[in-house]
Amino acid sequence: MFGPDGAGPDLNESGDNATSQLPTRNPLCLLERFMAYDWLKGVDDDYDVVVIGSGLAGLTGANCLAKCGRRVLLLEHHYQLGGLATWFTRKGGHIFDISLHGFPIGMIKSARKYWSQEIADSIVQLKGIRFVNPQFDLTTTFDRTDFTRLLIEHFRVPAETVERFFADLRAMNFYDHNPETTGEMLERYFPGRDDVKRFLMEPIAYANGSTLADPAITYGIVFSNFMSKGVYTFRGGTDLLIRKMSAELVRNGVELRKRVAVEKVLVEDAGGARRVAGVVANGRTIRCRAVLSNANIKGTILKLTGAEHFSPEFLAQVNAVRINTSSCQVYLGIRKGESIPYIGDLIFTSAARHFTSDELADFHTTSRTFSIYYPETRPGSGRYTVVCSLNARYEDWSRLNDEEYAREKQRLIDESIAGLERFIPGGRTRIDWAEAATPRTIEYYTRHWMGTSFGTKFEGLKVSMDLPTQLPGLYHAGSVGIIMSGWLGTINYGVIAANNIDKYLPAQIRPARAPAPQPAGARG
Ligand SMILES: Cc1cc2nc3c(=O)[nH]c(=O)nc-3n(C[C@H](O)[C@H](O)[C@H](O)COP(=O)(O)OP(=O)(O)OC[C@H]3O[C@@H](n4cnc5c(N)ncnc54)[C@H](O)[C@@H]3O)c2cc1C
Repeated sequence: MFGPDGAGPDLNESGDNATSQLPTRNPLCLLERFMAYDWLKGVDDDYDVVVIGSGLAGLTGANCLAKCGRRVLLLEHHYQLGGLATWFTRKGGHIFDISLHGFPIGMIKSARKYWSQEIADSIVQLKGIRFVNPQFDLTTTFDRTDFTRLLIEHFRVPAETVERFFADLRAMNFYDHNPETTGEMLERYFPGRDDVKRFLMEPIAYANGSTLADPAITYGIVFSNFMSKGVYTFRGGTDLLIRKMSAELVRNGVELRKRVAVEKVLVEDAGGARRVAGVVANGRTIRCRAVLSNANIKGTILKLTGAEHFSPEFLAQVNAVRINTSSCQVYLGIRKGESIPYIGDLIFTSAARHFTSDELADFHTTSRTFSIYYPETRPGSGRYTVVCSLNARYEDWSRLNDEEYAREKQRLIDESIAGLERFIPGGRTRIDWAEAATPRTIEYYTRHWMGTSFGTKFEGLKVSMDLPTQLPGLYHAGSVGIIMSGWLGTINYGVIAANNIDKYLPAQIRPARAPAPQPAGARG
């Protein structure tokens, strides 16, 4: 997915059924026909539900609705399904994963219930999580037992404080409306302990862009999810996961179309009441009774649907929703035949003397996470890749001209390689592909508002959930409110939205379905 910014779709992208129907004789002729190709060929004029976007929430929502017997059309503007749960291939046989770094154990249950046992069976634990910064250098399995041990033995926190912290966090309730911030909450348990706060906060900040100023509940839910049994990944890589999900969707009767951008959600007046009537996509009108938008919540309301369809009070809430931060990544491909030693699976590194939320997303941050993909990620491949992730702010990257942009991307690559060499001296000689992505890259490929990789701040959740009360038939699922973000959070949100849509649509004979998870079963 994330290739050179502004590059058009890759005509040879694998796994695209529609592309494989194209003639392949002469490159110019191919390009012309590609541009003129009707990516909606064979699609009906009317569906029960149109899903906009194929992120994990969109895919899961579509799958659940199809299993309920609904006629579903899923439209994705990109040439690949998965949204941010994606990958790209590069010369030299490299496959880079974008967001396959780690999620909580809850993914196994959600994958089994809403996808398949086969998908659930490929979820495996990552055991080597490292922290290397001026305050501490530690390795952990990132679960409650090991964190308890480290907090007591390394950080010398009294055992009863540690126990109380874990128990209180586990008991936090989404509906409590506790005004405390994460920073205030951490200070209450660990006063003046900058190092402890860093240990507890840094990985969560990487995972969802949350800051010390965000509501404590957003931290409590996510941290407790991880602390249950550690960090997990999908063996086989994102490409295999999305292939398996696509096959499941097709089996369940979902009509899947890529390279189709939804331009408008259509609204009709039915006896004095407004409701969703369809969409315009690639210039064509398709009718439906409900829309599930997996696009950014602000974009869904203000751009795709139009402010004129919502009350002034609701619009005020929409305008007040803050967009969460974004990310930069550097992808380093290890030359075929070369290897790197085991240095851990996820390494949180920083040269900052203290943790601050501002430093983490600063343009010149020294805080970065290395995800190391050993051959076990894709068994039999024999290949190694390294992905370096940094939190970032859209505005720092959007203001750059082309020359500055290219220079700053090269700086990111150089700094990341130097950072890696701290763990693998001379490692650069084994790298034969290096490339960087920025918030602009995310914006280009996902159309997300300000290239956000973590949706919206907490207030976005209410707006997202209230959407159908404002405009019957319009639903949203995707990264919002920090907790409904990440692989687990968005999959679970897709299920919740699908169940609400199914209730909204007229009853019909349908096969048995699984119950929806609760909001507190969120993200990783
Ligand atoms: C660098 C990075 C690292 C991450 N690491 C992790 C991690 O380790 N663990 C974890 O759990 N999560 C991680 N995440 C977060 C996780 O990937 C996302 O929260 C999740 O995948 C988002 O899913 P979503 O359903 O919200 O949709 P998205 O993935 O945001 O996809 C939305 C889709 O809608 C499509 N779309 C938008 N508008 C239109 C339109 N008008 N017409 C058609 N299609 C449209 C887009 O093209 C896109 O495919 C990471 C994210 C990033 C960026």
